[in-house]
Formats: sequence, C-alpha cells, structure tokens
Amino acid sequence: MRESALYETFARQPLAFEKGEGCWLETIDGERYLDFAAGIAVNSLGHAHPHLVAALTEQAGKLWHVSNLYDIPNQRTLGERLVAHTFADKVFFTNSGAEALECAIKTARRYHYVNGQPERYHVITFEGAFHGRTLATIAAGGQAKYLEGFGPKVEGFDQVPFDDIEALQKAIGPQTAAILVEPLQGEGGVRRLPNASLRRLREICDKNGLLLMFDEVQTGVGRTGKLFAHEWAEVTPDIMAVAKGIGGGFPLGACLATDEAAKGMKPGSHGTTFGGNPLAMAVGNAVLDVVLEEGFLDAVVQKGLLLKQSLAAIADEFPDVIETVRGEGLLIGIKCKVPNALLQQAMADQKLLVVPAGDNVLRLLPALTITDEEIREGVRRMHDAAAAVHAAQKANA
Ligand SMILES: *Cc1c(COP(=O)(O)O)cnc(C)c1O
Repeated sequence: MRESALYETFARQPLAFEKGEGCWLETIDGERYLDFAAGIAVNSLGHAHPHLVAALTEQAGKLWHVSNLYDIPNQRTLGERLVAHTFADKVFFTNSGAEALECAIKTARRYHYVNGQPERYHVITFEGAFHGRTLATIAAGGQAKYLEGFGPKVEGFDQVPFDDIEALQKAIGPQTAAILVEPLQGEGGVRRLPNASLRRLREICDKNGLLLMFDEVQTGVGRTGKLFAHEWAEVTPDIMAVAKGIGGGFPLGACLATDEAAKGMKPGSHGTTFGGNPLAMAVGNAVLDVVLEEGFLDAVVQKGLLLKQSLAAIADEFPDVIETVRGEGLLIGIKCKVPNALLQQAMADQKLLVVPAGDNVLRLLPALTITDEEIREGVRRMHDAAAAVHAAQKANA
C-alpha cells in the first residue's frame, strides 16, 4: 500500500471496499468478498439493510443533531425499549464500546462513593479481557501490549486468571467495587465463561456487596442467539456495556444499569456531546425492530448450529490445520493448529473475510441475517482454504 497520511496504528490489508449488500462486499475493482467479519460484529444486519438505510435517510432529512441539553424523543424510545427487554432500568448512550465501558466503570465507582465508601473503586477482571483502548479500558483489559508506553496504568484494576473463581475471591478486598467480565471473550479468542461461573460471580457479588458488570459490546444484540449472551446463564448483571451490533454500522454504544447501581449518576456527573444523537437513535431503533422480530433469534441459533457443525467436519478432515471449533450462535472461533494468519490468508485467497483473535483463533461473526446458502458457500471456501494450507504443510514437511 502507498504511504499514507494516517496513523500507522492498523496493520491494514490491501483491500478497499466500495459497497456492500447483506453478507457481500465489493472492492473498488469489482471483486466480491463473502463477509464473515461484519466489521467485527458491527454490521449485525449486514450491509445496506433496507430498513436501516430507510431509517437513517429519513432521519437525515429531518434532524441530525441536538445537544443532550434537550429531550431527544427517539433516544427516550430506544432507552425504554432496551429497558423493557433487559434487566436494566436506566440507559446512557455513547458512541463506542470503550465509552460504554467508561460509563460502566464510573457508574460502579460512584455507586460506592454515594454509599459512603469512596475507597471502593477497584474492579476485578479476567485475563484475556478486552474492554477498549482508552486509558481506563486498557487498564481494565490488562494486556501488556496495549499498556506499553502509555504512562502509569490507571489505578484500580486487578486481574486474575481466566475463569479462576478461587483467585478472584482472594483478590476481593475492602477496595473492591465490582467485577467486570465478558460472558464470552471475543478478542481473547472466543472463550466462553461457563454458565456455572457466571452464576458464581453473581453470588460472590451479592455476598460481598460488589456490582457485577458484563461487557456485551461484542456478544450483545443477538450475536449468540439471545438478545444478550448472559441470558444463556440466567443471571443478570447490575451494569452492562453494549455497542458494536446495536448500531448496525452506525457508531453507537450504551451503558445499561439497574436503578440501584445507577443511583450515583446525577445531573453533571457524566456527559457526552454526540452520544444518543438523533441519527444514531434512528438506526438503533431500526436494528431493534429487526432483531426483536418473532423468530429472529431462534434463526440465529439455527444458523450458528449449521455453521459450527459444518466447521467441525472440516476440522475432522484437516486436524493438522484446525484444532477445535467453539463459540455460540454466530460468534464462532476456529482454534488453529497452524498460525491463524496462515489460515486467514488462505481464506482471503478464497475471497472470504474473517477476523483473527487471541489464543491463535480465527473469528467468524457474519451478519445475523446470513442465509443458509451463504453459510454453505462460506463453508465451501473454508474447506478449500483448509485444504490449501494442508497441502502446503505437507509440501514443506
Ligand atoms: C470492541 C470491544 C470493545 C471496544 O469497543 P470500541 O467501540 O472499539 O471502543 C470493548 N469490549 C469488547 C468486548 C469489544 O469487543
């Protein structure tokens, strides 16, 4: 790629897309790619979904932005709809996942502050976590590669090994405010916390007066076949961060909380210029129109099963390339035997887009609207990619 005026922060592939439709993307040279990346779980309803395009263009002709100094009716509506379908009583809208997490962390700290325990501001997280790239969220994520060179790590984040409940209990002290986990780690390598562990976390929080916070930025809004992934475990958090899929491609995030957890957040204690603006709210409401349609989430479960079963067959055929297949709904991880970049490149050669993750995993997170035929087409391409990698391995051996 030619030199560019942009920060060098992304290792970009030499691909530029001009338009998209559903699960398909077309480059400026007219080449078609099957998109199993979906903007990393952002394009939840695919590209150019007619209902979303209509909602955005209609709003664009009326009003783009007003400040949160005024009542924003479609913000009120989206907030009420999220409350009606979740554990939450209150919602704060943001533009991104990291901002939703910032709001969640601030909400938890303020809760203890107004309870007269300002010393309780520590948050416990699990290794492999990813919560965003702001100064607080890199501290929460605790990954050395994201913290390096950015000055002192923001104080108040303690990390324990993934799903190590005993270590977590030992880490709880008089300063602990909350536990923050992803029910299923996305960036960390599609690693699911067992339902029993999620339930244990709820008990531990209740026993110790801690708030339970879920990061559902990647897993939320239907991705796992439930509206939110924690519903599989039948536990509810006190606070939850949402983003990615809820905007269907429009920048939108939200922090949800119970009345009790949000009781410290008063006029002036938090704010945002763009969060909850009319354009984002029009799209967020349109996304919910579709995801909440009867049968939509059941279809996600069925499609996820089809994808996972087909992949398991490929893994059986090429055990030297694929170790296992894991995940939930349409958030699937292929744990690779070969370096994941190798298999990703072989898939790109088949014009199939996927996303790498930690633990040598490739992530598949196609639009929730993907058809069975498109899944089968993707599986054919994955099969051919795995076969090509297998052949290359044999030739090298
Ligand atoms: C993507 C992601 C974030 C950060 O979201 P941004 O919109 O990039 O700030 C936080 N948590 C999880 C689980 C994510 O997948």
